[in-house]
Amino acid sequence: SKGDIKILLLENINHQAVISFREQGYQVESYMDALPESVLLEKIRDVHAIGIRSKTVLSSSVLQHAKNLMVIGCYCIGTNQVDLEYAANMGVAVFNSPFSNSRSVAELALANIISLARQLPDKSLQLRGGNWNNSSRHCYEVRGKTVGIIGYGHIGSQLSILAEAMGMSVIYYDILNIMPIGKAKQVPTLDELLRESDFVTLHVPETPDTKNLISSPQIAAMKKGSYILNTSRGSVLETKAVVDGLKSGKLFGAALDVFPNEPRFNRSNVFNDDLNKWTSELINLPNVILTPHIGGATMEAQSVTGLEVSEAIANFITQGSSLESVNFPEVSLRQTNFDDNALRILFVHRNIPGVLRKVNDILSRHNIEKQYSDSNGDIAYVITDISDVTQSDVHAIYNELDKTSERITVRLI
Ligand code: NAD
Repeated sequence: SKGDIKILLLENINHQAVISFREQGYQVESYMDALPESVLLEKIRDVHAIGIRSKTVLSSSVLQHAKNLMVIGCYCIGTNQVDLEYAANMGVAVFNSPFSNSRSVAELALANIISLARQLPDKSLQLRGGNWNNSSRHCYEVRGKTVGIIGYGHIGSQLSILAEAMGMSVIYYDILNIMPIGKAKQVPTLDELLRESDFVTLHVPETPDTKNLISSPQIAAMKKGSYILNTSRGSVLETKAVVDGLKSGKLFGAALDVFPNEPRFNRSNVFNDDLNKWTSELINLPNVILTPHIGGATMEAQSVTGLEVSEAIANFITQGSSLESVNFPEVSLRQTNFDDNALRILFVHRNIPGVLRKVNDILSRHNIEKQYSDSNGDIAYVITDISDVTQSDVHAIYNELDKTSERITVRLI
Protein backbone atom coordinates (compact mmCIF):
# COMPACT_ATOMS: atom_id res chain seq x y z
CA SER A 1 0.00 0.00 0.00
CA LYS A 2 1.03 3.62 -0.45
CA GLY A 3 1.57 3.99 3.29
CA ASP A 4 4.45 1.52 3.03
CA ILE A 5 6.18 3.46 0.26
CA LYS A 6 8.97 5.76 1.42
CA ILE A 7 9.88 8.80 -0.64
CA LEU A 8 13.00 10.83 0.09
CA LEU A 9 13.06 14.38 -1.34
CA LEU A 10 16.29 16.37 -1.25
CA GLU A 11 17.53 19.83 -2.27
CA ASN A 12 14.44 21.85 -1.38
CA ILE A 13 12.13 20.33 -3.95
CA ASN A 14 9.07 22.43 -4.62
CA HIS A 15 6.66 22.37 -1.71
CA GLN A 16 3.72 21.38 -3.92
CA ALA A 17 5.46 18.10 -4.68
CA VAL A 18 5.92 17.33 -1.00
CA ILE A 19 2.28 18.14 -0.25
CA SER A 20 0.91 16.13 -3.14
CA PHE A 21 2.88 12.99 -2.14
CA ARG A 22 1.68 13.32 1.47
CA GLU A 23 -1.91 13.79 0.31
CA GLN A 24 -1.67 10.60 -1.72
CA GLY A 25 -0.66 8.74 1.45
CA TYR A 26 3.06 8.16 0.90
CA GLN A 27 5.67 8.46 3.67
CA VAL A 28 7.70 11.52 2.74
CA GLU A 29 10.97 12.73 4.22
CA SER A 30 12.20 16.02 2.78
CA TYR A 31 15.35 18.10 3.21
CA MET A 32 16.28 21.62 2.18
CA ASP A 33 19.79 20.65 1.07
CA ALA A 34 21.67 17.80 -0.48
CA LEU A 35 22.76 15.24 2.13
CA PRO A 36 26.40 14.55 3.01
CA GLU A 37 27.37 11.29 1.37
CA SER A 38 27.47 9.23 4.57
CA VAL A 39 23.91 10.28 5.45
CA LEU A 40 22.74 9.72 1.88
CA LEU A 41 24.13 6.16 1.91
CA GLU A 42 22.19 5.48 5.11
CA LYS A 43 18.93 7.05 3.89
CA ILE A 44 18.92 5.56 0.41
CA ARG A 45 19.10 2.05 1.83
CA ASP A 46 15.38 1.52 2.31
CA VAL A 47 13.58 4.23 0.31
CA HIS A 48 11.44 3.35 -2.71
CA ALA A 49 11.73 6.68 -4.49
CA ILE A 50 14.15 9.58 -4.32
CA GLY A 51 13.74 13.11 -5.65
CA ILE A 52 16.85 15.18 -6.27
CA ARG A 53 18.08 18.21 -8.19
CA SER A 54 21.55 18.80 -9.57
CA LYS A 55 23.70 18.55 -6.44
CA THR A 56 22.97 14.99 -5.33
CA VAL A 57 25.22 12.58 -7.17
CA LEU A 58 23.69 9.13 -7.54
CA SER A 59 26.70 7.18 -8.79
CA SER A 60 26.87 3.41 -8.88
CA SER A 61 28.70 3.43 -5.55
CA VAL A 62 25.75 5.25 -3.96
CA LEU A 63 23.02 3.35 -5.82
CA GLN A 64 24.42 -0.05 -4.86
CA HIS A 65 23.32 0.67 -1.28
CA ALA A 66 19.68 1.05 -2.31
CA LYS A 67 17.78 -2.11 -1.55
CA ASN A 68 14.19 -1.06 -2.33
CA LEU A 69 14.64 1.75 -4.83
CA MET A 70 12.19 1.77 -7.77
CA VAL A 71 12.38 5.25 -9.17
CA ILE A 72 14.50 8.41 -9.23
CA GLY A 73 12.98 11.81 -9.99
CA CYS A 74 15.36 14.56 -11.14
CA TYR A 75 13.44 17.78 -10.44
CA CYS A 76 15.44 19.57 -13.12
CA ILE A 77 16.45 19.16 -16.75
CA GLY A 78 19.88 17.54 -16.47
CA THR A 79 20.32 13.90 -15.48
CA ASN A 80 24.09 13.47 -15.66
CA GLN A 81 24.30 13.49 -11.85
CA VAL A 82 22.76 10.01 -12.01
CA ASP A 83 24.42 6.84 -13.34
CA LEU A 84 21.50 6.14 -15.69
CA GLU A 85 22.74 2.84 -17.03
CA TYR A 86 23.49 1.45 -13.59
CA ALA A 87 20.02 2.53 -12.43
CA ALA A 88 18.37 0.82 -15.43
CA ASN A 89 20.27 -2.35 -14.67
CA MET A 90 18.80 -2.26 -11.16
CA GLY A 91 15.31 -1.84 -12.66
CA VAL A 92 15.20 1.77 -11.46
CA ALA A 93 13.51 4.24 -13.83
CA VAL A 94 14.75 7.84 -13.91
CA PHE A 95 12.53 10.79 -14.78
CA ASN A 96 13.25 14.48 -15.33
CA SER A 97 11.35 17.51 -16.53
CA PRO A 98 12.80 18.65 -19.83
CA PHE A 99 10.07 21.00 -21.04
CA SER A 100 8.60 22.62 -17.95
CA ASN A 101 10.56 25.81 -18.41
CA SER A 102 10.14 26.39 -22.15
CA ARG A 103 8.02 29.49 -21.64
CA SER A 104 10.50 30.98 -19.14
CA VAL A 105 13.37 30.55 -21.60
CA ALA A 106 11.35 32.04 -24.47
CA GLU A 107 10.48 35.08 -22.34
CA LEU A 108 14.15 35.60 -21.46
CA ALA A 109 15.10 35.42 -25.14
CA LEU A 110 12.45 38.03 -26.01
CA ALA A 111 13.58 40.28 -23.17
CA ASN A 112 17.15 40.01 -24.42
CA ILE A 113 16.16 40.83 -28.00
CA ILE A 114 14.55 44.09 -26.87
CA SER A 115 17.37 44.85 -24.42
CA LEU A 116 20.02 44.43 -27.11
CA ALA A 117 18.06 46.56 -29.59
CA ARG A 118 17.90 49.40 -27.04
CA GLN A 119 21.41 48.88 -25.59
CA LEU A 120 19.92 48.44 -22.14
CA PRO A 121 22.95 46.76 -20.56
CA ASP A 122 25.25 49.67 -21.44
CA LYS A 123 22.75 52.47 -20.81
CA SER A 124 22.07 51.10 -17.35
CA LEU A 125 25.74 50.63 -16.60
CA GLN A 126 26.55 54.15 -17.78
CA LEU A 127 23.96 55.77 -15.54
CA ARG A 128 25.03 53.65 -12.59
CA GLY A 129 28.47 55.15 -13.20
CA GLY A 130 27.00 58.67 -13.21
CA ASN A 131 26.92 59.13 -17.00
CA TRP A 132 23.78 60.55 -18.58
CA ASN A 133 23.66 59.50 -22.24
CA ASN A 134 20.27 59.39 -23.95
CA SER A 135 21.58 59.22 -27.49
CA SER A 136 19.51 57.14 -29.91
CA ARG A 137 22.57 56.06 -31.91
CA HIS A 138 22.25 52.35 -32.80
CA CYS A 139 19.05 52.04 -30.78
CA TYR A 140 16.11 50.42 -32.55
CA GLU A 141 12.55 49.21 -32.17
CA VAL A 142 12.12 45.49 -32.69
CA ARG A 143 8.88 45.97 -34.64
CA GLY A 144 9.44 45.01 -38.27
CA LYS A 145 12.78 43.35 -37.61
CA THR A 146 13.44 39.69 -38.41
CA VAL A 147 14.24 37.13 -35.77
CA GLY A 148 15.87 33.91 -36.95
CA ILE A 149 15.18 30.98 -34.64
CA ILE A 150 17.56 28.03 -34.90
CA GLY A 151 15.75 24.97 -33.50
CA TYR A 152 11.95 25.28 -33.60
CA GLY A 153 11.13 22.96 -30.71
CA HIS A 154 9.42 23.69 -27.40
CA ILE A 155 11.29 26.91 -26.76
CA GLY A 156 11.82 28.09 -30.33
CA SER A 157 8.13 27.80 -31.18
CA GLN A 158 7.09 29.64 -27.98
CA LEU A 159 9.48 32.44 -28.88
CA SER A 160 7.97 32.52 -32.36
CA ILE A 161 4.58 33.46 -30.87
CA LEU A 162 6.01 36.09 -28.55
CA ALA A 163 8.18 37.70 -31.24
CA GLU A 164 5.33 37.85 -33.72
CA ALA A 165 3.15 39.51 -31.10
CA MET A 166 5.82 42.23 -30.92
CA GLY A 167 5.46 42.84 -34.67
CA MET A 168 8.59 40.95 -35.67
CA SER A 169 8.94 38.69 -38.70
CA VAL A 170 9.92 35.17 -37.75
CA ILE A 171 11.97 32.73 -39.77
CA TYR A 172 13.34 29.46 -38.47
CA TYR A 173 15.73 26.70 -39.36
CA ASP A 174 15.34 23.14 -38.07
CA ILE A 175 16.55 19.73 -39.23
CA LEU A 176 12.92 18.58 -39.13
CA ASN A 177 10.09 19.96 -41.23
CA ILE A 178 7.94 21.65 -38.64
CA MET A 179 4.58 23.31 -39.14
CA PRO A 180 4.98 27.08 -38.71
CA ILE A 181 3.02 28.95 -36.09
CA GLY A 182 1.26 32.12 -37.24
CA LYS A 183 3.11 33.81 -40.10
CA ALA A 184 6.50 32.31 -39.28
CA LYS A 185 8.39 30.76 -42.18
CA GLN A 186 10.77 27.80 -42.20
CA VAL A 187 13.88 28.38 -44.29
CA PRO A 188 15.68 25.47 -45.96
CA THR A 189 19.24 26.30 -44.92
CA LEU A 190 21.06 27.74 -41.94
CA ASP A 191 22.84 30.07 -44.33
CA GLU A 192 19.58 31.62 -45.50
CA LEU A 193 18.52 32.20 -41.91
CA LEU A 194 21.82 33.86 -41.08
CA ARG A 195 21.67 36.14 -44.13
CA GLU A 196 18.11 37.35 -43.46
CA SER A 197 17.94 37.78 -39.66
CA ASP A 198 18.49 40.86 -37.54
CA PHE A 199 18.49 38.66 -34.43
CA VAL A 200 19.78 35.09 -34.51
CA THR A 201 18.73 33.04 -31.50
CA LEU A 202 19.80 29.48 -30.66
CA HIS A 203 17.36 26.85 -29.38
CA VAL A 204 18.88 23.53 -30.45
CA PRO A 205 19.91 20.69 -28.12
CA GLU A 206 23.54 19.83 -27.41
CA THR A 207 24.47 17.09 -29.88
CA PRO A 208 27.61 16.24 -31.88
CA ASP A 209 25.93 18.00 -34.84
CA THR A 210 25.29 21.23 -32.95
CA LYS A 211 28.81 21.57 -31.52
CA ASN A 212 30.06 24.99 -32.68
CA LEU A 213 27.06 25.23 -35.00
CA ILE A 214 27.76 28.96 -34.97
CA SER A 215 31.41 29.93 -35.29
CA SER A 216 33.35 32.42 -37.42
CA PRO A 217 32.04 31.44 -40.92
CA GLN A 218 28.43 31.59 -39.69
CA ILE A 219 28.94 34.96 -38.04
CA ALA A 220 30.55 36.16 -41.26
CA ALA A 221 27.33 35.13 -43.05
CA MET A 222 25.17 37.26 -40.73
CA LYS A 223 23.95 40.79 -41.49
CA LYS A 224 26.17 43.66 -40.45
CA GLY A 225 24.77 45.11 -37.25
CA SER A 226 22.88 41.99 -36.26
CA TYR A 227 22.73 40.34 -32.85
CA ILE A 228 23.36 36.81 -31.58
CA LEU A 229 21.59 35.16 -28.64
CA ASN A 230 22.27 31.82 -26.98
CA THR A 231 20.01 30.26 -24.37
CA SER A 232 20.62 26.68 -25.55
CA ARG A 233 23.98 25.18 -24.56
CA GLY A 234 27.47 26.64 -24.35
CA SER A 235 28.88 24.16 -26.85
CA VAL A 236 26.62 25.40 -29.66
CA LEU A 237 28.23 28.82 -30.05
CA GLU A 238 31.97 29.42 -30.29
CA THR A 239 32.74 32.22 -27.83
CA LYS A 240 35.84 33.44 -29.65
CA ALA A 241 33.81 33.97 -32.83
CA VAL A 242 31.37 36.15 -30.87
CA VAL A 243 34.24 38.16 -29.39
CA ASP A 244 35.72 38.70 -32.88
CA GLY A 245 32.31 39.59 -34.33
CA LEU A 246 31.70 42.20 -31.63
CA LYS A 247 35.20 43.66 -31.94
CA SER A 248 34.96 44.02 -35.71
CA GLY A 249 31.57 45.72 -35.45
CA LYS A 250 29.87 42.97 -37.43
CA LEU A 251 27.71 42.20 -34.39
CA PHE A 252 25.95 45.00 -32.52
CA GLY A 253 25.41 42.86 -29.46
CA ALA A 254 25.20 39.43 -27.89
CA ALA A 255 23.18 37.84 -25.10
CA LEU A 256 24.58 34.66 -23.60
CA ASP A 257 22.85 32.65 -20.89
CA VAL A 258 24.93 29.49 -21.32
CA PHE A 259 28.67 28.89 -21.55
CA PRO A 260 31.19 26.14 -22.10
CA ASN A 261 32.47 24.89 -18.73
CA GLU A 262 29.80 26.42 -16.53
CA PRO A 263 30.48 26.32 -12.79
CA ARG A 264 28.46 23.55 -11.18
CA PHE A 265 27.43 25.56 -8.13
CA ASN A 266 26.64 29.17 -7.28
CA ARG A 267 29.83 30.92 -6.24
CA SER A 268 31.75 34.16 -6.62
CA ASN A 269 34.93 35.06 -8.52
CA VAL A 270 34.16 32.88 -11.51
CA PHE A 271 36.24 35.19 -13.72
CA ASN A 272 39.37 34.12 -11.85
CA ASP A 273 38.73 30.56 -12.84
CA ASP A 274 40.89 29.28 -15.66
CA LEU A 275 37.96 27.35 -17.06
CA ASN A 276 36.02 30.53 -17.51
CA LYS A 277 38.45 32.65 -19.51
CA TRP A 278 35.58 33.20 -21.97
CA THR A 279 34.06 35.90 -19.89
CA SER A 280 37.21 37.93 -19.40
CA GLU A 281 37.08 39.07 -23.04
CA LEU A 282 33.31 39.46 -23.24
CA ILE A 283 32.88 41.58 -20.12
CA ASN A 284 34.87 44.41 -21.68
CA LEU A 285 32.83 44.54 -24.90
CA PRO A 286 29.82 46.82 -25.45
CA ASN A 287 26.19 45.68 -25.56
CA VAL A 288 26.75 42.21 -24.16
CA ILE A 289 24.30 40.55 -21.78
CA LEU A 290 25.73 37.72 -19.70
CA THR A 291 23.43 35.75 -17.42
CA PRO A 292 24.28 32.67 -15.30
CA HIS A 293 22.07 30.04 -17.02
CA ILE A 294 18.83 31.55 -15.72
CA GLY A 295 16.65 30.84 -18.77
CA GLY A 296 14.49 28.39 -16.88
CA ALA A 297 15.00 29.82 -13.40
CA THR A 298 11.51 31.06 -12.52
CA MET A 299 9.10 30.18 -9.75
CA GLU A 300 6.56 29.09 -12.36
CA ALA A 301 8.95 26.66 -14.02
CA GLN A 302 9.94 25.25 -10.62
CA SER A 303 6.37 24.50 -9.72
CA VAL A 304 5.54 22.91 -13.10
CA THR A 305 8.69 20.79 -12.73
CA GLY A 306 7.54 19.76 -9.25
CA LEU A 307 4.18 18.57 -10.47
CA GLU A 308 5.49 16.91 -13.62
CA VAL A 309 8.22 14.84 -11.96
CA SER A 310 6.00 13.90 -9.00
CA GLU A 311 3.32 12.68 -11.37
CA ALA A 312 5.86 10.56 -13.25
CA ILE A 313 7.12 9.05 -9.97
CA ALA A 314 3.57 8.31 -8.79
CA ASN A 315 2.57 6.78 -12.15
CA PHE A 316 5.59 4.50 -12.07
CA ILE A 317 4.86 3.39 -8.51
CA THR A 318 1.12 2.86 -8.88
CA GLN A 319 0.81 1.73 -12.52
CA GLY A 320 4.32 0.89 -13.65
CA SER A 321 4.20 3.53 -16.40
CA SER A 322 7.69 4.47 -17.58
CA LEU A 323 6.64 6.91 -20.32
CA GLU A 324 9.16 9.74 -20.79
CA SER A 325 11.75 8.00 -18.64
CA VAL A 326 15.32 8.93 -19.61
CA ASN A 327 16.95 5.53 -19.02
CA PHE A 328 14.25 2.93 -19.38
CA PRO A 329 12.11 1.17 -21.98
CA GLU A 330 8.93 3.23 -22.28
CA VAL A 331 5.89 1.18 -21.38
CA SER A 332 2.41 2.14 -20.25
CA LEU A 333 -0.92 0.35 -20.20
CA ARG A 334 -4.25 2.09 -19.89
CA GLN A 335 -5.39 1.66 -16.32
CA THR A 336 -7.80 -1.20 -15.94
CA ASN A 337 -10.62 -1.02 -13.45
CA PHE A 338 -8.93 -3.49 -11.22
CA ASP A 339 -11.34 -5.83 -9.50
CA ASP A 340 -10.06 -7.93 -6.65
CA ASN A 341 -9.12 -10.79 -8.93
CA ALA A 342 -7.11 -8.81 -11.46
CA LEU A 343 -3.35 -8.49 -11.30
CA ARG A 344 -0.83 -6.25 -13.05
CA ILE A 345 2.64 -7.73 -13.45
CA LEU A 346 5.62 -5.44 -13.95
CA PHE A 347 8.63 -7.39 -15.12
CA VAL A 348 11.99 -5.82 -15.92
CA HIS A 349 14.44 -8.21 -17.50
CA ARG A 350 17.59 -8.65 -19.55
CA ASN A 351 16.91 -8.01 -23.22
CA ILE A 352 17.70 -11.45 -24.65
CA PRO A 353 15.64 -13.82 -26.82
CA GLY A 354 13.08 -16.13 -25.27
CA VAL A 355 12.16 -14.21 -22.13
CA LEU A 356 8.64 -13.26 -23.18
CA ARG A 357 7.90 -16.91 -23.96
CA LYS A 358 8.99 -17.86 -20.44
CA VAL A 359 6.91 -15.08 -18.92
CA ASN A 360 3.84 -16.04 -20.89
CA ASP A 361 4.29 -19.73 -20.05
CA ILE A 362 4.02 -18.70 -16.40
CA LEU A 363 1.07 -16.37 -16.99
CA SER A 364 -0.85 -18.38 -19.56
CA ARG A 365 -2.83 -20.30 -16.95
CA HIS A 366 -4.74 -17.02 -16.66
CA ASN A 367 -6.45 -14.83 -19.16
CA ILE A 368 -4.01 -12.20 -20.39
CA GLU A 369 -6.16 -9.07 -20.76
CA LYS A 370 -3.45 -6.69 -21.94
CA GLN A 371 0.27 -6.82 -22.50
CA TYR A 372 2.88 -4.32 -23.69
CA SER A 373 6.62 -4.60 -23.87
CA ASP A 374 9.55 -2.46 -24.94
CA SER A 375 13.33 -2.63 -24.79
CA ASN A 376 16.13 -0.13 -24.44
CA GLY A 377 19.63 -1.49 -24.94
CA ASP A 378 20.24 -4.32 -22.50
CA ILE A 379 17.02 -3.78 -20.57
CA ALA A 380 13.47 -4.79 -21.44
CA TYR A 381 10.21 -4.19 -19.63
CA VAL A 382 6.86 -5.89 -19.99
CA ILE A 383 3.58 -4.99 -18.31
CA THR A 384 0.83 -7.59 -18.30
CA ASP A 385 -2.70 -7.44 -16.91
CA ILE A 386 -4.29 -10.78 -16.08
CA SER A 387 -7.66 -11.66 -14.57
CA ASP A 388 -9.17 -14.36 -12.34
CA VAL A 389 -6.24 -14.58 -9.98
CA THR A 390 -6.46 -15.99 -6.47
CA GLN A 391 -4.17 -15.07 -3.59
CA SER A 392 -2.24 -18.31 -3.92
CA ASP A 393 -1.80 -17.70 -7.67
CA VAL A 394 -0.23 -14.34 -6.80
CA HIS A 395 2.45 -16.00 -4.71
CA ALA A 396 3.10 -18.68 -7.30
CA ILE A 397 3.40 -16.14 -10.12
CA TYR A 398 5.74 -13.97 -8.09
CA ASN A 399 7.97 -16.88 -7.14
CA GLU A 400 8.17 -18.29 -10.65
CA LEU A 401 8.98 -14.94 -12.26
CA ASP A 402 11.44 -14.13 -9.51
CA LYS A 403 13.33 -17.36 -10.26
CA THR A 404 13.83 -16.68 -13.99
CA SER A 405 17.50 -16.09 -14.70
CA GLU A 406 16.81 -12.99 -16.83
CA ARG A 407 14.82 -11.19 -14.13
CA ILE A 408 15.94 -7.74 -13.00
CA THR A 409 12.85 -6.83 -10.97
CA VAL A 410 9.34 -8.16 -10.61
CA ARG A 411 6.51 -6.21 -9.08
CA LEU A 412 2.83 -7.14 -8.76
CA ILE A 413 0.12 -4.52 -8.25
P1 NAD B 1 13.36 20.68 -28.21
O1 NAD B 1 13.92 19.31 -28.27
O2 NAD B 1 11.92 20.86 -27.95
O3 NAD B 1 13.70 21.46 -29.59
C1 NAD B 1 14.95 21.43 -30.19
C2 NAD B 1 14.76 21.61 -31.71
O4 NAD B 1 16.07 21.68 -32.31
C3 NAD B 1 14.03 20.44 -32.38
O5 NAD B 1 12.97 20.92 -33.18
C4 NAD B 1 15.13 19.76 -33.20
O6 NAD B 1 14.62 19.18 -34.39
C5 NAD B 1 16.03 20.92 -33.52
N1 NAD B 1 17.39 20.54 -33.87
C6 NAD B 1 18.13 19.51 -33.37
N2 NAD B 1 19.34 19.48 -33.96
C7 NAD B 1 19.37 20.50 -34.85
C8 NAD B 1 20.36 20.98 -35.76
N3 NAD B 1 21.56 20.39 -35.87
N4 NAD B 1 20.03 22.06 -36.53
C9 NAD B 1 18.81 22.63 -36.44
N5 NAD B 1 17.84 22.23 -35.59
C10 NAD B 1 18.13 21.17 -34.81
O7 NAD B 1 14.25 21.46 -27.12
P2 NAD B 1 13.83 22.75 -26.30
O8 NAD B 1 13.11 22.34 -25.09
O9 NAD B 1 13.23 23.76 -27.20
O10 NAD B 1 15.28 23.23 -25.81
C11 NAD B 1 16.24 23.76 -26.71
C12 NAD B 1 17.53 23.99 -26.00
O11 NAD B 1 17.38 24.88 -24.90
C13 NAD B 1 18.18 22.75 -25.40
O12 NAD B 1 19.57 22.79 -25.67
C14 NAD B 1 18.04 22.91 -23.93
O13 NAD B 1 19.09 22.27 -23.25
C15 NAD B 1 18.13 24.41 -23.79
N6 NAD B 1 17.54 24.91 -22.55
C16 NAD B 1 18.16 25.94 -21.89
C17 NAD B 1 17.61 26.48 -20.73
C18 NAD B 1 18.25 27.62 -20.03
O14 NAD B 1 18.08 27.74 -18.83
N7 NAD B 1 18.96 28.48 -20.71
C19 NAD B 1 16.45 25.91 -20.21
C20 NAD B 1 15.81 24.89 -20.90
C21 NAD B 1 16.38 24.38 -22.07
